[in-house]
Amino acid sequence: MSLLEVRGLNVRFRIGDDVLHAVKDLDVVVDPGETVSMVGESGSGKSVLVSAVFGILERNSSVDGKILFKGRDLLSIPRREFDLIRRKELVLIPQNVSQAWDPMMRIGDQMREFMTNAGVPEQDVPRISKDYLSQCGFEDPRLITDTYPHRLSGGMSQRAMIAMCMSVEPSLVIADEPTKGIDESAKEGILDLLVSEKWGSSLLMITHDIGSASRCKRVMVMYGGRCVESGGTAEVLENPLHPYTKGLIGSDPRRGLNPIPFASRDLFPGECSFGNRCSLRDDGCDDSLFVVDGREVRCRHAGGRRSYQDVQAQGLGAQEGRRLCEHDRGQGRDRGADGPFGFGEIHRRDDDDEASRAQLRPDPAGRGRRHGHV
Ligand code: SF4
Repeated sequence: MSLLEVRGLNVRFRIGDDVLHAVKDLDVVVDPGETVSMVGESGSGKSVLVSAVFGILERNSSVDGKILFKGRDLLSIPRREFDLIRRKELVLIPQNVSQAWDPMMRIGDQMREFMTNAGVPEQDVPRISKDYLSQCGFEDPRLITDTYPHRLSGGMSQRAMIAMCMSVEPSLVIADEPTKGIDESAKEGILDLLVSEKWGSSLLMITHDIGSASRCKRVMVMYGGRCVESGGTAEVLENPLHPYTKGLIGSDPRRGLNPIPFASRDLFPGECSFGNRCSLRDDGCDDSLFVVDGREVRCRHAGGRRSYQDVQAQGLGAQEGRRLCEHDRGQGRDRGADGPFGFGEIHRRDDDDEASRAQLRPDPAGRGRRHGHV
């Protein structure tokens, strides 16, 4: 059974006479022991998902869909049961950790309160605090437990928060922008701690930083409230299929700092959310989901794609989807249009291999021909 299983989640906010559809038909699965990152620009719906999972959305919001944690739907279980889960099994490392601490309480007292709320016996708290602070790199844990949060640097504050969250041995940790506002020099240490297998917890990391996302085994790329591409992190980052994923990678300062032009905008139903920023857009573009080499991609120009509905209708899972799409490998592929994003080579092109090119089959629906994709 999956640890966290979000199915068909929609979150809307009423703002005056308008309705903002912030999360659209979103599926998220985190299995035991897995590290998953969710990456995307501000406003893509990542933090709204976190608020929905923890039941801390604003009053002007409405939620539908399912948020299953160990099979129990967090949207419908009694409040008391939900609170117990949030104290012990499902913990949040919030954004801006320095502001999340109570400035009037010493770190040790806050750790004590956190642990006893989760059912840790009072007499065990000092030993466990010391142990977890040591594991998070503090040579003198006593110094930390005796101090107030404002005396810690950003990196120290984040490490102390990780120690506190891990001290209750949660099944799943959701870390919302864990390296935001942290010095570059401290970032790697924070990420090492978060993805460490020594905790035995699963991790869902929310981030806008592709470098942080690369530390998790699986990645979901969010845009406009939807997941536009998901798959194994190495595969997605080495061979991104969705134009937005390519743009996001290209805009990383370590990879050229080529920003994606324009901003996201309101959509008409069924429209591709990335359409106004995409150089590959044509009349057939919509928000359909495809399965490509076992990856789910919301782009009709992703190579070797197969309709998600077709795969589902045949009762085939991701592995079968991967196998079905393997014919695409090794065949001549066109390159994505040289758009303004400077994506460079998207697919391998083998101009000399006419035999391979001849194997390219047009989509029965006539989609994707422009770029010669299967
Ligand atoms: S479906 Fe069309 S507009 Fe949307 S990302 Fe793909 S190519 Fe661009």
